[in-house]
Amino acid sequence: MLVTMKELLCRAKEGGYAVAAANVFTGRTVEACFKAAAERKAPVIIACTPYVQMEELALAARMYERKYPQVPAALHLDHGKEYEDVQRALRCGFTSVMLDKSTLPYKENVKAVREAVRAAHAVGVTVEAELGHVGKGAEYEETRDSGLTRKEEAKGFVEETGVDALAVAVGTSHGVYKGRPHLNFELLNELSREVPVPLVLHGGSNTGEDKLKKAVDLGIQKINLSTDLSTEYLKGVKKFEETNDPLFDESGALVYTGNRTVYANQALSKGAEAYQEILEKYIRVFGSEGKALG
Ligand SMILES: [Zn+2]
Repeated sequence: MLVTMKELLCRAKEGGYAVAAANVFTGRTVEACFKAAAERKAPVIIACTPYVQMEELALAARMYERKYPQVPAALHLDHGKEYEDVQRALRCGFTSVMLDKSTLPYKENVKAVREAVRAAHAVGVTVEAELGHVGKGAEYEETRDSGLTRKEEAKGFVEETGVDALAVAVGTSHGVYKGRPHLNFELLNELSREVPVPLVLHGGSNTGEDKLKKAVDLGIQKINLSTDLSTEYLKGVKKFEETNDPLFDESGALVYTGNRTVYANQALSKGAEAYQEILEKYIRVFGSEGKALG
């Protein structure tokens, strides 16, 4: 069943675990989220950026929530950049949105987020915003410390905006890290004591299980996963190609004589299986296995 993110994360805060937020990019990956959650009896957050087919993926989520009624899931807009992205998500039936204005100065971030909160709350949708800035892994060594969330701003930001969850910058990064990830656990500890709403960690991929577990212990309730899931998906497709009759010869000419529609379908299914497998692994790491019940 699709519920708001707030409902999932408030339970996670009480229970001391985190919910995996998986970035989806095809209908099969939406199904893989439901299957992984059903298999592990866990809640899950299905996260779409504005750059994927939001409308189609929202329809897929609505279909699979009927097929897997036991799964508590939120359909979430990840990194909405503009107010218009939020409006699109609301129109598509998302149950949760993020408006990311973290590159703007504090006051402008507050102003933009407050507006999104007003629009979303009016239709029962919950909101995540980011304070401080989680950067890109490729620039990690240069930008790691400059974007960290300032603890003296966090509580006020939540009060002024009315957000339901706060993404904090404590040393993780998006994509593949250049250099070793270093998390500021002291800052995270202080933030989780200060901030009354659930906390979100972006850039879960490549961070390492031990660090993620510790972040959950210190008060993170949602961890975003994208790079690791899409990498495994692509590896799954590649492995299928490598272990089956070749499609092309060395000159690039098509040599496969079997049914190519069946081949394509099987290859993409293998990708989705690999995606599901690593998502299940993270669900266990985050402590949310078995938390779909009660
Ligand atoms: Zn992110």
